[in-house]
Amino acid sequence: MNKEKVLELKELSHIYVNASGAHLAVQHINLVVYKGEFISLVGPSGCGKTTILNMIAGLLAPTYGELKVMGETISSPSPRLGYMQQQDYLFPWRTIMQNVMLGLEISGKADAKSKQKIVSLLDELGLEQSAHKYPHQLSGGMRQRVALARTLITDPDLLLLDEPFSALDLHIKMQLEELVQTTLGRLGKTAILVTHDLSEAVAISNRVVVLGRNPGHIRKIITIPRELKEAGPIEARKHPLYQACFDEIWHELDEEMEREEG
Ligand code: ADP
Ligand code: MG
Repeated sequence: MNKEKVLELKELSHIYVNASGAHLAVQHINLVVYKGEFISLVGPSGCGKTTILNMIAGLLAPTYGELKVMGETISSPSPRLGYMQQQDYLFPWRTIMQNVMLGLEISGKADAKSKQKIVSLLDELGLEQSAHKYPHQLSGGMRQRVALARTLITDPDLLLLDEPFSALDLHIKMQLEELVQTTLGRLGKTAILVTHDLSEAVAISNRVVVLGRNPGHIRKIITIPRELKEAGPIEARKHPLYQACFDEIWHELDEEMEREEG
């Protein structure tokens, strides 16, 4: 693997301050992500997964600690990042083409070649028939693909994906995982995925970061054997090496729950 560092988190921490006081949400997050890696974040609800992504996206300032994307300190949203949130946020009054164009308009990258770029990306994501339709005419899985297209069209170095598949049926979800894995793999993109689906994390990632809470922290980083990644997300789930990885993450989360209860 190419050892170029795409993301570096050093002692990254965030304290929310509001009328009811200060709340230490995440503390001492240390992580280096290399080009082409696919990283999943898993952990109990409230452990700070979204807080971490929001800091990486430049939407939330770290209270302390350091955060670098491609070697540069981030202090505001950067065009090098693509952020896909759980809800697809497509504009109902815009066609699919216009919704994807928005990604380029916002980042100031729209030009004469934009339409052609969008057409070929939609084609690649199996949406060639949908360019002139409106979001309400598409299924949930298709809308998530449009949201993915809008994220990919700006050609970001790093993709942040916050539970993008969680609202989908299993079958659609696995197809989309495969599409994301092959598309990102071919484009050499780096991605960080938040998911509560451990099977998805094992099936799609190079490494899985298991988080604990109160305050949010990294418990363990588990490297997934190359064989699983190469098998693709659907076949990986049937691979002889799969269960041991799943069990290791499960065990880690189990201990985290016991620690909290005890
Ligand atoms: P996750 O995405 O893992 O479910 P979050 O990052 O949303 O977790 O939240 C982490 C912690 O920070 C939780 O305890 C949550 O209640 C708290 N939190 C999140 N957003 C805010 C906010 N805007 N103000 C105060 N506390 C918040
Ligand atoms: Mg969240």
